[in-house]
Amino acid sequence: RIRTRFAPSPTGFLHIGGARTALFSWAYARHHGGDFILRIEDTDLARSTPEAVQAILDGMKWLGLDWDEGPFYQMQRMDRYRQVIAEMLADGRAYLCYTTPEELTEIREAQRARGEKPRYDGRWRPEPGKVLPAVPEGVKPVVRFRNPTSGKVGWNDIVKGAIEFDNAELDDLIIARPDGTPTYNFCVVIDDWDMNITHVIRGDDHVNNTPRQINILRALGAEVPEYAHLSMILGPDGQKLSKRHGAVSVMQYDADGYLPDAVINYLARLGWSHGDDEVFSREKLVEWFDLDRITPSAAQFDFGKLDWLNAHYLRELAPAALAELVAARLAQRGVEVAGGVELTALVALYRERASTLVQLVDALEPFYAEFEIAPALVEKHLGEAGRGALMSLKTKFAEVDWNAAALNDAIKACCAEQGLKKMHLLAIPLRVALFGVEHTPSIDQVLELLGRERTLERLSRLG
Ligand code: GLU
Repeated sequence: RIRTRFAPSPTGFLHIGGARTALFSWAYARHHGGDFILRIEDTDLARSTPEAVQAILDGMKWLGLDWDEGPFYQMQRMDRYRQVIAEMLADGRAYLCYTTPEELTEIREAQRARGEKPRYDGRWRPEPGKVLPAVPEGVKPVVRFRNPTSGKVGWNDIVKGAIEFDNAELDDLIIARPDGTPTYNFCVVIDDWDMNITHVIRGDDHVNNTPRQINILRALGAEVPEYAHLSMILGPDGQKLSKRHGAVSVMQYDADGYLPDAVINYLARLGWSHGDDEVFSREKLVEWFDLDRITPSAAQFDFGKLDWLNAHYLRELAPAALAELVAARLAQRGVEVAGGVELTALVALYRERASTLVQLVDALEPFYAEFEIAPALVEKHLGEAGRGALMSLKTKFAEVDWNAAALNDAIKACCAEQGLKKMHLLAIPLRVALFGVEHTPSIDQVLELLGRERTLERLSRLG
């Protein structure tokens, strides 16, 4: 049975790179009818916070990435790690090392002076016939893993292909600190083992940890899982993805008006493909997802594509459902929809031009709330001539049949009377007067929805 995990360190929010790792692990488990496990790697007490844990859980829920087991917290598994360390010490798979930090610095400096790569020199590593130094007083030892000293350790990475390290290059890893707390790589190993993880899918910043983790797994007699190391995500400029590029909390995407389905679809395409398919549902993703179509090269973030996908998903929603989302966001702004213009019809008309919910809400807010007309727009469109033309239009509006075709005729007739050669010469001032903006969907349809009473009332404010 396939078992994958997402193992974030709660030192910040769930950002877009972490979300993609989570998505791939989730999709792989779902595709194979396996289990997806959530594990919070919170042993870095100085940097882990409960707020960050909450932010990760919120982000996962918002994206709809449900987990089958967990969240497990490493801080609650300390006894287990200590127990394994004790067993390894007892039979020599690990040993106590009393080298002080000062001595380590000396060792490294000497190695550097000789042009060697700095590494622990193994002075406390027991060997047959070797006499160990006398245990110094007042020094608390660390526990080191007895790493093989020869041969190679490698794996066939599902994304990157065969990777191999020389054991001689690897130090005897510290698995417990002087205070007895286990170190990061050790906790990961014990967890992956205890949780029966079959596929470790994670960022390729962990490639250098993998040989150490494999050696410990082997020493424990554990089965070594498959590894898939995902290449990083670059910004649109080819640089490492940063906040400026959108490496922000996934919840910021919510705030900015993106739909979770669009973000999921977008993330799925960041480094994975299914033929030429760009738009696919969560269900299709689960049906199609496998690890063999993950690209080994870095994926590049593309805001244009995200907006395009989001626009698509905005139009996929039933207008009534979209109207509910818009109403909720207007309510957050203190704007009440009930009793005003029929929102569902407005949403159906306006969503054609919106890429995000925020854009849609911005465009619709003037239907329900007081708005200011920017002085520059007043000057440009609502001078004496503009106001005069709108007043004569208002007179026509008072009598016309209130439907799009008749309204269109009335605007055209007014243009002819005023010597305005193009309809937009009147339609733009009208939009500015009614909504404070120069652009809206087709003005006759917008007017039909706004209604005669509200239109006349807004035009009367021009005086
Ligand atoms: N906790 C690690 C991180 O946040 C992930 C470790 C792993 O997936 O093995 O980068």
